[in-house]
Amino acid sequence: MIPFNHPPYTGNEDHFVLDAMRGSKLCGDGPYALKCQKWFEDQLGCLKTLLTPSCTHALEMAAILIDIQPGDEVIMPSYTFVSTANPFVLRGAKVIFVDIRPDTMNIDETLIEAAITDKTKAIVPVHYAGVSCDMDTIMRIADKYKLFVVEDAAQAFYSYYKNEPVGTRGHLAAFSFHETKNVTSGGEGGLLIINDKRFVQRAEIIREKGTNRSQFFRGMVDKYTWVDVGSSYLPSEIQAAYLYGQLLNAEKIQAKRQEIWHSYYNGLSNLVQRGLIELPTVPEDSTHNAHMFYLKVDDIEHRTLFLNHLKVAGILAVFHYVPLHSASAGKQFGKFSGVDKFTTKESSRLVRLPLYYSMSLKDYESVIKATIEFFNQV
Ligand SMILES: *Cc1c(COP(=O)(O)O)cnc(C)c1O
Repeated sequence: MIPFNHPPYTGNEDHFVLDAMRGSKLCGDGPYALKCQKWFEDQLGCLKTLLTPSCTHALEMAAILIDIQPGDEVIMPSYTFVSTANPFVLRGAKVIFVDIRPDTMNIDETLIEAAITDKTKAIVPVHYAGVSCDMDTIMRIADKYKLFVVEDAAQAFYSYYKNEPVGTRGHLAAFSFHETKNVTSGGEGGLLIINDKRFVQRAEIIREKGTNRSQFFRGMVDKYTWVDVGSSYLPSEIQAAYLYGQLLNAEKIQAKRQEIWHSYYNGLSNLVQRGLIELPTVPEDSTHNAHMFYLKVDDIEHRTLFLNHLKVAGILAVFHYVPLHSASAGKQFGKFSGVDKFTTKESSRLVRLPLYYSMSLKDYESVIKATIEFFNQV
């Protein structure tokens, strides 16, 4: 069976994880955590980054940082993972869902303004499949209405928008290092990216259980105490060490993923010309990170048949997401703004093909072959 995903492993993680295990600091913000954060700050050219136990936790920190209060409204797409919404719902916000663009599956920036009310506090764009949202337009709207922008960049590590790394435009942004993402910190992990200096000091406090311990370690205060709300948002040094090993090989991982992505794209382009499937669109001002390869079939019936055909051929392909506004919690905590023209329709005909670092040429060629076979028979 060709699995849908296999966690990336490049071979030098062992060395760093063992080194961390034998070191004298195993809790959060140890030497490897600081090395990773420095790596990201250099790579992104951003103000500050903080490792977190997950992207979900980084978004929870963002919701606390922008001071979400009960009754506030937060705008986001419905076509996304639950973790885009939960961090804001946990603080009492109401989620306002906006339709997506069918070409990128990202929030339709032209519909955002109509969803804004006097209760709106933030916009949360999701860079689906590592393809950037139209951040120029989104930031212009946020500016005009004095809103915060928190980028769910979970899938967008190593993506670019107008030659700038994705995750550096919004006030805050979050990456995920879950095992299904391009790089992982040993299965679970995330990063909070801070692009606005107002948030740096308070982010460290919230992450350290509401204490000023970070300042204490830097010798800025002579004792540390409870100064704000907070939680424990630090991953262990083992996770940071694993991630550090991956970051040193990030170019290698990216090259392999791009190779697979382009093989799929070229291998299936004939089906596009024959009008049988649609392939992802990448706007000219965006460079994607080959996080995901998806195609769209005619409708949900074709999708079920196609997934079954692949399964019989020994290939596990999947689909996602059940639009949040159609889920029971989505109905309770959110509301769709305007018309659902594309969210439900496009999500029900999308299929994700296997794409992972250790995937062999033979395996992705057999996925292409089985896909062509299916569409030749229908
Ligand atoms: C993976 C993902 C998340 C959650 O990431 P975790 O690190 O598992 O918390 C959130 N949003 C999107 C769009 C994702 O793809």
